[in-house]
Amino acid sequence: MITIGLPKGLFYYQHNVLWESFFRQIGCNVVVSDYTNKKILDCGVKHCSNEVCLPVKVFHGHVYSLTNKADYIFIPRYTSLYKNEYTCPKFCGLPDMVRLSLKNGIKILEVKMHVDKYPEQTYESLKEMAKVLNINYKNISDAYENAWMVFTKSQSEVLIKRKMKAARQEDKTAICVLGHPYMINDKYLSMNLVNKLKDRDINVYTPDMLDHETKRKNAYLYQDKVFWDVGLDNLGSAFTFAHDKNVRGIIYLTPFACGVDSFVTEFIELRLKSFCKIPFMKITVDEHTGEAGFDTRIEAFLDMLGGLLDEGHISPYGKHVYIN
Ligand code: SF4
Repeated sequence: MITIGLPKGLFYYQHNVLWESFFRQIGCNVVVSDYTNKKILDCGVKHCSNEVCLPVKVFHGHVYSLTNKADYIFIPRYTSLYKNEYTCPKFCGLPDMVRLSLKNGIKILEVKMHVDKYPEQTYESLKEMAKVLNINYKNISDAYENAWMVFTKSQSEVLIKRKMKAARQEDKTAICVLGHPYMINDKYLSMNLVNKLKDRDINVYTPDMLDHETKRKNAYLYQDKVFWDVGLDNLGSAFTFAHDKNVRGIIYLTPFACGVDSFVTEFIELRLKSFCKIPFMKITVDEHTGEAGFDTRIEAFLDMLGGLLDEGHISPYGKHVYIN
């Protein structure tokens, strides 16, 4: 049986259900790399260019850790996942970057996704995959469509559960944590921030608790300036959650050397400062960030919020914020 390796980084935090389901349906064995740890991080740093952002370095470490554990490593080439929106350029060239950096003869399988201009590329790349794996193309394309249905169903179920949970905790103080899914959900890179806040009985709101439409409508001011999907997710989430009466502060967790965040965090901070007195803190994480210093900054931020807890804050848009 063919074994496919899935690196637990970047795309994995959005689309793990889709690709695990796809490969299992075409009869492959799936092996996923471990959660990020020091060894994986160090290995990624060693094998990747210094100029690259932290999550891409870590991704290299995940791929490396799968050497000799899988026949092929799956690395999709995402260019555009929605109409009129693009991924960060690192996602577009990810298979090439990994191939060039690791040079350890790993075999990469890729699927192209370019929803905005060339949606047919996905099926063309599935045809290539069918040849490489020696599997009938019809089986591969059927598996892809089924896996897509499994994925969208699981997405809506998760979203409903999160909304119901948020509704049950309606009057509880909350902090909004912004950032990329592969930062917030990676406990090692995020220094377990979400759980640290929850342990203090603080509700945590993250961008994946909002549906796509809500985020896009509330990021509307920036639709012409930002075309990266992850940028719009964070802009829309910031301006949605800033309106929520329970949200007392916003923390943006950004990885060092992220080009997208260098714009997006500025837009968010400026707009929140001008129209809303909700406290905002940006924390940049790189491979040298120590947990003690990180925790001190969180403590200081929470101490500052302590004095504001009873004051509430002013929404940037008042009633005009859109909630689906
Ligand atoms: S969006 Fe930022 S963190 Fe993500 S891959 Fe691109 S540069 Fe790296």
